[in-house]
Amino acid sequence: MGIVCADGHSGFDPDNKLVRLADDTEVGYDVLVVAPGIQLDWDQLPGVSDTLGRDGVSSNYGLDLAPKTWDMIRGMKKGTAVFMMPAGPIKCAGAPQKIAYLAADHWRKQGVLKNIEIVMALPTPGMFGVPEFAKVLEQVVTRYGIDVRFETVVSEVKPDSKELVLKSMSGDSTSTIGYDFLHAVPPQSAPNWVKCSPLSIPGDAKGWVDIDKNTMQHVRYPDVFALGDAGSSPNSKTGAAIRKQAPVVVQNVIDQLKGQEINRHYDGYASCPIVTARNKMLLAEFDYTMRPHKTVPLVNTQKERWDMYLLKRYGLPFMYWHFLMKGKAMTTPAAFGS
Ligand SMILES: Cc1cc2nc3c(=O)[nH]c(=O)nc-3n(C[C@H](O)[C@H](O)[C@H](O)COP(=O)(O)OP(=O)(O)OC[C@H]3O[C@@H](n4cnc5c(N)ncnc54)[C@H](O)[C@@H]3O)c2cc1C
Repeated sequence: MGIVCADGHSGFDPDNKLVRLADDTEVGYDVLVVAPGIQLDWDQLPGVSDTLGRDGVSSNYGLDLAPKTWDMIRGMKKGTAVFMMPAGPIKCAGAPQKIAYLAADHWRKQGVLKNIEIVMALPTPGMFGVPEFAKVLEQVVTRYGIDVRFETVVSEVKPDSKELVLKSMSGDSTSTIGYDFLHAVPPQSAPNWVKCSPLSIPGDAKGWVDIDKNTMQHVRYPDVFALGDAGSSPNSKTGAAIRKQAPVVVQNVIDQLKGQEINRHYDGYASCPIVTARNKMLLAEFDYTMRPHKTVPLVNTQKERWDMYLLKRYGLPFMYWHFLMKGKAMTTPAAFGS
């Protein structure tokens, strides 16, 4: 029988090489590729669900909420705007910063930036894990006058008093701050039905599918592979990473089916196109070494650039629909999967 989690959802039975669907149908497999994405754990940020989408609180992590984010930013003329990032892996770790820079640039152009205090709460000790890109982002936050609180998370939203509880990552200090606008980002984890299955890392609260970070093969079930946001590989969770993981998984699955040794390796490549103004972008490309891993020829991508903004605005959507979605991404430089 398939594995059914406590919530009754369908599950994996890797010992018998089958999955169970929502209608209880069981499907056998020779090789299973798991790619269900990530779960937004809004319930892990107390208070936020009572106010999401209204009273100055929005999030680009909700399809329906993203337009409201922009409406709220355009409507703001003074007060305190807080941009937060939760602890733990999230999809596109640059997204919580990008929206802060777009907002700040808009307020600057409207002449109201001086009336708005911008606070950015980051769980990390620096602006970015790769020093070369962190240095550029330090200049960006200085330019906009953003008050960055490092190693700090928002632990509670209090909509009635329009306050946030800020907690240090060490857990030994808390403080309260008022807000007029909050860009909220939820803690994230593997979907619950993956978390409670035998495929997840034993004892890991986030429940990622337990794979080898290079081969993308499950560490206990060789007939199972995973890629994308739900996998345990410690890359930055981005579409750009998947663009490089997919060919590795395809070849390794073929070799596994043929009974041959698998030998294709993913190097942790990810790219984060960080929009730093309405018309500027920093293309951060890196891999497991946490060093820059440049794939765009000729141009210096270790600075904010107008041409990289054009790539993001016009080039990437074209590449996405015409190459990535058609399985032709191998013909483009890796960054175009951003
Ligand atoms: C605001 C924001 C900005 C981003 N910007 C960038 C960027 O600039 N560049 C970049 O590279 N990445 C970016 N990303 C990250 C990127 O979107 C994700 O990393 C990527 O989509 C993950 O792909 P995935 O296939 O793992 O998961 P998903 O894209 O979430 O796909 C998973 C699929 O599995 C399906 N599924 C889940 N459970 C089941 C089930 N039980 N049965 C059947 N189907 C199921 C889902 O419906 C979904 O279609 C951004 C993300 C956000 C939120």
